[in-house]
Amino acid sequence: MDECPRCQSPLERLSLGEVTTIACGRCGFADVPVDHESKPVEIESWRDAFNRFYDS
Ligand SMILES: [Zn+2]
Repeated sequence: MDECPRCQSPLERLSLGEVTTIACGRCGFADVPVDHESKPVEIESWRDAFNRFYDS
Protein backbone atom coordinates (compact mmCIF):
# COMPACT_ATOMS: atom_id res chain seq x y z
CA MET A 1 0.00 0.00 0.00
CA ASP A 2 1.17 3.51 -0.71
CA GLU A 3 2.34 5.75 2.06
CA CYS A 4 1.31 9.33 2.62
CA PRO A 5 3.93 11.73 1.20
CA ARG A 6 3.29 14.07 4.10
CA CYS A 7 3.31 11.85 7.18
CA GLN A 8 4.17 8.36 5.87
CA SER A 9 0.99 6.85 7.25
CA PRO A 10 -0.65 4.13 5.17
CA LEU A 11 -3.05 5.62 2.69
CA GLU A 12 -6.63 4.43 2.65
CA ARG A 13 -8.56 3.71 -0.50
CA LEU A 14 -11.88 5.51 -0.58
CA SER A 15 -14.78 5.40 -2.95
CA LEU A 16 -17.01 8.41 -3.40
CA GLY A 17 -19.72 7.89 -5.96
CA GLU A 18 -18.10 6.32 -8.99
CA VAL A 19 -14.62 7.61 -8.23
CA THR A 20 -12.02 5.83 -6.15
CA THR A 21 -9.12 7.69 -4.64
CA ILE A 22 -6.61 7.35 -1.88
CA ALA A 23 -6.43 9.55 1.16
CA CYS A 24 -4.58 9.83 4.43
CA GLY A 25 -6.80 9.65 7.49
CA ARG A 26 -4.07 11.11 9.66
CA CYS A 27 -3.18 14.41 8.00
CA GLY A 28 -5.99 14.70 5.47
CA PHE A 29 -3.85 14.33 2.38
CA ALA A 30 -5.93 13.21 -0.60
CA ASP A 31 -4.68 12.10 -3.97
CA VAL A 32 -7.12 12.23 -6.84
CA PRO A 33 -6.17 9.79 -9.61
CA VAL A 34 -4.71 11.45 -12.66
CA ASP A 35 -6.66 9.46 -15.22
CA HIS A 36 -9.36 12.03 -14.68
CA GLU A 37 -8.86 15.64 -15.61
CA SER A 38 -6.94 17.70 -13.14
CA LYS A 39 -9.39 20.15 -11.65
CA PRO A 40 -7.84 21.97 -8.70
CA VAL A 41 -11.16 23.59 -7.84
CA GLU A 42 -12.60 20.20 -6.99
CA ILE A 43 -9.88 19.49 -4.46
CA GLU A 44 -11.75 21.51 -1.87
CA SER A 45 -14.95 19.56 -2.38
CA TRP A 46 -12.98 16.33 -2.08
CA ARG A 47 -11.47 17.58 1.12
CA ASP A 48 -14.89 18.54 2.45
CA ALA A 49 -16.16 15.08 1.64
CA PHE A 50 -13.26 13.45 3.43
CA ASN A 51 -13.72 15.72 6.41
CA ARG A 52 -17.34 14.68 6.64
CA PHE A 53 -16.30 11.07 6.31
CA TYR A 54 -13.83 11.23 9.16
CA ASP A 55 -16.00 13.39 11.37
CA SER A 56 -18.84 10.92 11.34
ZN1 LIG B 1 -0.72 11.88 5.92
